[in-house]
Amino acid sequence: MTSTIPAASGIDTSLSPARALVCRACSARYPLAAQHACYECFGPLEVDYDATALAAVTRAQIEAGPKNLWRYAALLPAGQDPASRVTLDPGLTPLVAAPHLAAELGVTAPLWVKDDSGNPTHSFKDRVVSVALTAARALGFTRYACASTGNLANSVAAHAARAGVPSVVFIPSDLEQGKVVTTAVYGGDLVAIDGSYDDVNRLCGELVETDEFEDTAFVNVNVRPYYAEGSKTLGYEVAEQLGWRIPAQVVIPMASGELLTKIDKAFQELVEIGLVEAPAGGWAVFGAQSAGCNPIATALHADSDTIVPVKPTGIAKSLNIGDPAAGLYALEAVRRTGGWMEYADDDEIRAAIRLLARTTGVFAETAGGVTVAVLRKLVESGRLDPTKETVVFNTGEGLKTIDAVAAEVGPTHRIRPSLRAARDAGLLS
Ligand SMILES: *Cc1c(COP(=O)(O)O)cnc(C)c1O
Ligand SMILES: [Zn+2]
Repeated sequence: MTSTIPAASGIDTSLSPARALVCRACSARYPLAAQHACYECFGPLEVDYDATALAAVTRAQIEAGPKNLWRYAALLPAGQDPASRVTLDPGLTPLVAAPHLAAELGVTAPLWVKDDSGNPTHSFKDRVVSVALTAARALGFTRYACASTGNLANSVAAHAARAGVPSVVFIPSDLEQGKVVTTAVYGGDLVAIDGSYDDVNRLCGELVETDEFEDTAFVNVNVRPYYAEGSKTLGYEVAEQLGWRIPAQVVIPMASGELLTKIDKAFQELVEIGLVEAPAGGWAVFGAQSAGCNPIATALHADSDTIVPVKPTGIAKSLNIGDPAAGLYALEAVRRTGGWMEYADDDEIRAAIRLLARTTGVFAETAGGVTVAVLRKLVESGRLDPTKETVVFNTGEGLKTIDAVAAEVGPTHRIRPSLRAARDAGLLS
């Protein structure tokens, strides 16, 4: 693997607590550059921090910060200086109490929906993109790109537009119109590829090595270690919004599996640096996939450490990564914390989108349907304890995948505009 690090000032370690990139597989250490795989073992790299710098962070400092994810800048690899940020200022999305959903599912402890559909481009991807592109700018990149299952495309294109930087976004050609239009409107290059997401990702891995793309940050390829850290902010926020507590159980959708591992990492960091106490008995992490793309859950169910790639199908396209990069680490987190994984088919996903909407007022995209359907299964099978506080993550907006439920819902009555017609329709009884 050749390095494509442009000459630039780099990550400013007088401001950033990040110190190195470290291999998740063999612990080899590398400088804070644009590198995502270990030269020794090809394992994925992760940002490593100065423990003393992290331990200096206080609740008061965070609470005095801006009302977006940059309130956690002291726990992130880049963006400490507001002027250095490439961002739409996502984050601090609502943590919604869900008592009616809890009652329907037989959950007796508090149940919460962390609703990340409220971000600027309506998915949690704004978090990872803000952190990735802020690091990319520090590393000298002058064009922004990604391989996307949909939401990432929206977010990269919008961030590039805000920053006034050119973008080139790669997607599978069969994406929902609600993801294509909401990317194309921002005006960058949008390349639809006749293939699966895994084909798109492989092509981007090849493009990033070319001279022509030397100036280009692919948020989830060459700057992936920084990108992944943005997901931690979902964990920080849940803890802060619960009054600096960690919930006993969390249910998280998985595509690459990265988000799940980073919410768990965020909880670990908060405990290590003394900002929260671990709940009695720790926290349990649960992962959700669709039946059409379930390679991580299948490995867990088979008690295997081998993730066998699949060819994804089904309506939960934002989660359709058949060869999940962080799958092994998601397995590790779920096993270590005593959680579990399940998957839901398309009918269960549709029903769960409607259940969530009907009981909470949150309209989720198909990924949220996957997560709520899996929550239901976990309660039914007894894997998830209904007497313990639980947070379920809705990572995207229902309007982007409206076709999922469009055939199932509509007006409950259709009448002429008269009192008589209203009475005849039973509306006055
Ligand atoms: C990308 C995505 C995820 C999962 O992301 P990973 O970190 O790759 O597991 C979950 N939900 C939505 C809506 C997404 O777009
Ligand atoms: Zn390694």
